[in-house]
Amino acid sequence: MRFETRSVHTGVYKDTTFNSVTTPIYPTSTFYFDRIGVHKGYDYTRTGNPTRAALEENLADLEGGAGAVVCATGMAAITTTLHLLQAGDHVITGNDIYGGTYRLFDDLMPRMGIEFSFIDMTDPANTEAALRDNTKMIWIETPSNPLLNIVDIAATCAIAKQRGLLTVCDNTFLTPYCQRPLDLGCDLAVHSTTKYLNGHSDVVGGAVIAKTPEHAERIKYLANGLGTPGSPFDAFLTLRGVKTLGPRMRTHQENAQQLADWLEKHPRVQKTYYPGLESHPQRELIARQHTGHGGMLSFDIDAPAEKLDDFFAALDIFLLAESLGGVESLIEQPWSMSHASMGEQGLKESGITPQTIRVSVGLEHPDDLIEDLERGFKAIG
Ligand SMILES: *Cc1c(COP(=O)(O)O)cnc(C)c1O
Repeated sequence: MRFETRSVHTGVYKDTTFNSVTTPIYPTSTFYFDRIGVHKGYDYTRTGNPTRAALEENLADLEGGAGAVVCATGMAAITTTLHLLQAGDHVITGNDIYGGTYRLFDDLMPRMGIEFSFIDMTDPANTEAALRDNTKMIWIETPSNPLLNIVDIAATCAIAKQRGLLTVCDNTFLTPYCQRPLDLGCDLAVHSTTKYLNGHSDVVGGAVIAKTPEHAERIKYLANGLGTPGSPFDAFLTLRGVKTLGPRMRTHQENAQQLADWLEKHPRVQKTYYPGLESHPQRELIARQHTGHGGMLSFDIDAPAEKLDDFFAALDIFLLAESLGGVESLIEQPWSMSHASMGEQGLKESGITPQTIRVSVGLEHPDDLIEDLERGFKAIG
């Protein structure tokens, strides 16, 4: 069956008592046994819950994995995945990964004895050069945020496979609708389901999807041991959201493409970043790797930084906010908001300036979005 059909149906039918067409929420911490050793597959909700299991089945299917664990947040999913490693291991990752992941890798995990190299992963030769004897994992996040640089997943996984290293891809930005890391060779895909998978800005959640049953088992064991799994209520909402993932992603990317094409020609825009643009320097890799380009774009505005407040204030539809992937369009300045923790030096090195503006393109009518941005440009003269 095809993606849209599976996203609507897979894992959903858990209620055999009343044949509900949606998955009930099982808000229970514990499950009673019929007698010693006999229960109906669940004993305690941290370990397993039918509502969460429905979402896990669905997400594993959409990513093409053997199993999944749904976590309380995206960071909980990432923390769980890192526990496949132990003290003394080394990880190679990008220097432009999500800020929360960067903090975990740069500050928290090193205290537990795990080492990280942050490199420019857009050239696989850099990844090869960063390998050490104790390298155990390559952590990919593509496209990058906010400049939409692309890492070659298949080429990076080929380097890892030769040496038996684990490969993980944070697939939050594109979702399995637009990119399938496990098919391209990754062992694991992770998500902040907070973003497109739930898609309605009303849940924080995460997920880890494993290609093999062995990794899926290990991830379940780790999540239970660490206490990272998500709540049944959040799983219910996310399962509701994921049923419309295909149609939402199609509209997100149609709208983003229209905005990107328009922004690229706008006299007040210096540069537009979107994987669907012909002008993207990695056009050929994108054609091989993506089955869609998602709804995230950025642009460098041609205006002094002091004028940005006027630009944002003139917008009626776009909300000035961090986060992404919801039905409503959001806009922000990575320099002072989502990426501020990188510090001025780090921001400059990665090509982010105060003029860089990031947009999460929502599901509104694209003409309304273009008219709204034009109001912003008019306000800065
Ligand atoms: C938001 C995000 C995360 C973290 O997810 P939370 O749900 O906020 O914990 C991780 N990776 C990427 C790419 C994200 O955008």
